[in-house]
Amino acid sequence: MRLKILDIPEDGLTEELDLPVEVRDGAGPDSAHVLMSVFRFKKKVLVEGTIRTTVSLNCSRCLKPVSYPVETRFREEYNPAEDVDKEEEQELSERELDLSYYSNDELDISELIREQVLLSVPMKVLCRADCKGICPKCGKDLNEGDCGCKTDEVDPRLAPLGKFKELMKDRGAS
Ligand SMILES: [Zn+2]
Ligand SMILES: [Zn+2]
Repeated sequence: MRLKILDIPEDGLTEELDLPVEVRDGAGPDSAHVLMSVFRFKKKVLVEGTIRTTVSLNCSRCLKPVSYPVETRFREEYNPAEDVDKEEEQELSERELDLSYYSNDELDISELIREQVLLSVPMKVLCRADCKGICPKCGKDLNEGDCGCKTDEVDPRLAPLGKFKELMKDRGAS
């Protein structure tokens, strides 16, 4: 959804809408319920509001789909990109990282919502706190039971002993 800057009345506008958001490739799109107010001060635009959605993610251990609820407030200030010369832009980005820009007299609301939802979603989600994940050998979901594969993982408690043995071997050789 794009909003024409000139369509924003001086005293602002309030909108309630449902927008599709695609947070990750291959997942979604999920529908986000957005309540927002848009204000314009000459060319400067302020957008604030709330987003409610449930994002479809995958458990980072077993890859099962996980529904992750998101409820977030946002407040973004936009300035026309065309008005900013490069030098000024560099200075600005160092001082005010939160500043955003619009171009062609349009504000991409869908992109704003997508960014805000992304910020609220953790890098990793689990289907449950004790998810056992999938077997690296046969790919079986270990939450459904043991697969019986033998893993040659060394017990981490014994690892220092292995190092010690190696050390002794090296010493013996020299
Ligand atoms: Zn899982
Ligand atoms: Zn297995």
